[in-house]
Amino acid sequence: MVAEFEQLLQRIADAEKRFARRPGAIKLLAVSKTRSVDEIRSCAALGQRAFGENYLQEAAVKMEALRDLDLEWHYIGHIQSNKIPDLAHYFDWVDTLASGPVAVKLDQRRGLELRPLQVCIQVNISGEESKSGCLPERVPELANLVAELPNLRLRGLMAIPAIEDNAEKQKLVFRRMGDIFQDLVESGLALDTLSMGMSADFEAAIAEGSTMVRIGTALFGPRID
Ligand SMILES: *Cc1c(COP(=O)(O)O)cnc(C)c1O
Repeated sequence: MVAEFEQLLQRIADAEKRFARRPGAIKLLAVSKTRSVDEIRSCAALGQRAFGENYLQEAAVKMEALRDLDLEWHYIGHIQSNKIPDLAHYFDWVDTLASGPVAVKLDQRRGLELRPLQVCIQVNISGEESKSGCLPERVPELANLVAELPNLRLRGLMAIPAIEDNAEKQKLVFRRMGDIFQDLVESGLALDTLSMGMSADFEAAIAEGSTMVRIGTALFGPRID
């Protein structure tokens, strides 16, 4: 994994340069679903701190086993309402918030002894019925609601765009996300995170304003799941 990690950081740095982004502007979220505690530990030893998990049970076991490390845990899976109390308790970030009622419950369940839960709104940017996420036209309303909740801190937006059959179309989708993000910032919200781009498309996402790429296979190798 050492070579993959170094190579990935280099590709991110190259993309920052190529697309005139500030050096260090892009944060790497290591997507560690299905990866072992040992793999995460090795990755952390290389300097990686932020890890993303999709399944609560699996994540809770890993967090417990890695308590000795100062890691930042992101929930990037679908939010089921019966899991909200545990999500609010265990994670540092929830990157897939998509509805007002879920935001209110997360806020109520985030203990006052913990720092505010860092939140991104997931946008259903490709308009797919099967995909979760807030529809683009409803994002401003949800963003303003989340910004008012005392135990949540709205950091920005996240998207998992549908795969397009050509690179230009893919870019346009990322660009639409960038536009929605800019509109929110211009409306007065202090946001710093636009989470888009995965192993197959992160360079295009960086070209269009991503600030956080979520990488699994390009870092840990193919998933056997
Ligand atoms: C699995 C996953 C990723 C990582 O995908 P790769 O193609 O393995 O880089 C990123 N984001 C989300 C939400 C995921 O579920």
